Amino acid sequence: MQTRASWCRKVFAVFLAVFAAVVSARTSSQTTSSQSSQTSQTSQTASPQRHIRGQDEPTKAELLRGTYGPYRANNDLLFYHLDIRIDPTKKLVSGKNTIRFKMLQDDNRIQLDLADVLNIDKILLDTTPLHYERDSGAVFLDFPATLHSGQVYTIDFYYSGTPVQTGRFGGFTFGTDPSGHPWIYSACEGIGASIWWPNKDQWRDEVENMQISVAIPKDLVDVSNGRFMGKTDLGDGYTRWDWFVHYPINNYDVSVNIGNYQHFSDRMGDLDMDFYALPEDLEKAKKQFTQARGMIEAFEHYFGEYPFKKDGYKLVEVPYSGMEHQSAVTYGNHFANGYLERDWTGVGISPRFDFIIVHESGHEWFGNSITAADPSDMWIHEGWTTYLESMYVEYMYGKDDAIKYLNGYKPKIPNERPIITARGVNGEPPIDQYFKGALFINTLRSVVDDDARWWKLLHDFYQHFKYQNIMTEDVEQFFNQQTGMNLTPIFDQYLRHTAIPTLDLKFNSAAGTVSYRWKTDEPGFKMPVRVGKRGDWQILHATSDWQTMQTTLKQDEFDIAMDLYYVNVTRQ
Ligand SMILES: [Zn+2]
Repeated sequence: MQTRASWCRKVFAVFLAVFAAVVSARTSSQTTSSQSSQTSQTSQTASPQRHIRGQDEPTKAELLRGTYGPYRANNDLLFYHLDIRIDPTKKLVSGKNTIRFKMLQDDNRIQLDLADVLNIDKILLDTTPLHYERDSGAVFLDFPATLHSGQVYTIDFYYSGTPVQTGRFGGFTFGTDPSGHPWIYSACEGIGASIWWPNKDQWRDEVENMQISVAIPKDLVDVSNGRFMGKTDLGDGYTRWDWFVHYPINNYDVSVNIGNYQHFSDRMGDLDMDFYALPEDLEKAKKQFTQARGMIEAFEHYFGEYPFKKDGYKLVEVPYSGMEHQSAVTYGNHFANGYLERDWTGVGISPRFDFIIVHESGHEWFGNSITAADPSDMWIHEGWTTYLESMYVEYMYGKDDAIKYLNGYKPKIPNERPIITARGVNGEPPIDQYFKGALFINTLRSVVDDDARWWKLLHDFYQHFKYQNIMTEDVEQFFNQQTGMNLTPIFDQYLRHTAIPTLDLKFNSAAGTVSYRWKTDEPGFKMPVRVGKRGDWQILHATSDWQTMQTTLKQDEFDIAMDLYYVNVTRQ
């Protein structure tokens, strides 16, 4: 399923600039001439950066993985059936992914992805074996006859091998629990789902729904995404667990969690809630996981119904901290409040709730339902979900605590690189996408300056884009249209530049005046800001140009509402 197109110019600009070089050696009969008229806006993405620290050019493998190239753009995903067997002893994954897609133009080649350490056993179109070419993680499939635009095709992609354990969350891990039972799980955000199963490994295009079948030794439990459809004894010591995902799902959310799990459940209205923990943690889980109810209640209050009701909500114990796997959120936060038993924002509020339950489940609304179309704009997942934490605090404890909680994030912000990174290279944005992203949203709230309007705006924003893949331009456009303000320079300053706005103040005590202006990278930057006396703020309509006003306050009495706006101030 493909959605949203307003950002495609910039994606294509980068794509054309870099992909051309990559594929020039290939015999590519088709062109992207229909898009070539849109390449004038190269904007800030013209020189791609890679990963968190790198300033170097992306590698060919990164481009193949990150670019929405012609052999991805020529088709639209409809359905996956991932049907695999996992052997804990041999550490082997084998089986197939059945991939259904619709062609968007006539062509005889498509691109899929599978880590090069995994074997391709065969790829079939009905019964016809397909020729393919591998290039790092990319797999180019060649069809014997032209596939026609508008037609739907189904292929079976058979593979096997041992996926690598890698990355921040483990990638794909064959582990054991403290009692010695197998504990096998996937967590592949960033690295990508193609490290353990074949798929079209990018963010823009999602299947409309998905079946996941996982055969495992019969004494183990598999929890995957979606609705549990039943299990089948395969008669050879293995049981197949079948799950069905009724909604679009991004690749990195697709997961297996295989272990000696105990199951318990709850229900909120017609929402099924299912919980899985190891036997030794069952009692702790039964107590801690009750917090899921308050989380669902808070986010449904602000945004509307839990997005994946047909699949239910699941919380699954894992040995790493946690991940937003759609409708099967994973949890490894020690059954304690805060984050890994710390006061996460350091102001005494985080210890009141379980950070992982609130944050990772918040991603059901932002990350899973609304998904960024390129990892460059991942603040749509992380900035928003970090802000959702403060919404949970506000719902539970009130606005003052929410603002205090959010401002506790300030020391975690390095402000070293812009939040939005180069598109089309599968680049990971810096940590600022979380905390600075959330403080930017808090700043927007103060610019809107009307809480009732703010909450309606956020509700409508979510409802407008739910189940879609969007880019920052879509967010900006929505907020501009709904508020009637031109917020683009504010979005751009916070998201596309390194520095935050600085309010320069010059006091003239003899004249009883203060002069003020914003110092920013964005030309035409304007932002109202509350100044003066706390409790009796006045709104300063500051711009990039110096303005002067009378004040009865002395320089050291003249305050700025620094907790409502994420800004710097200089005084002279
Ligand atoms: Zn997150």
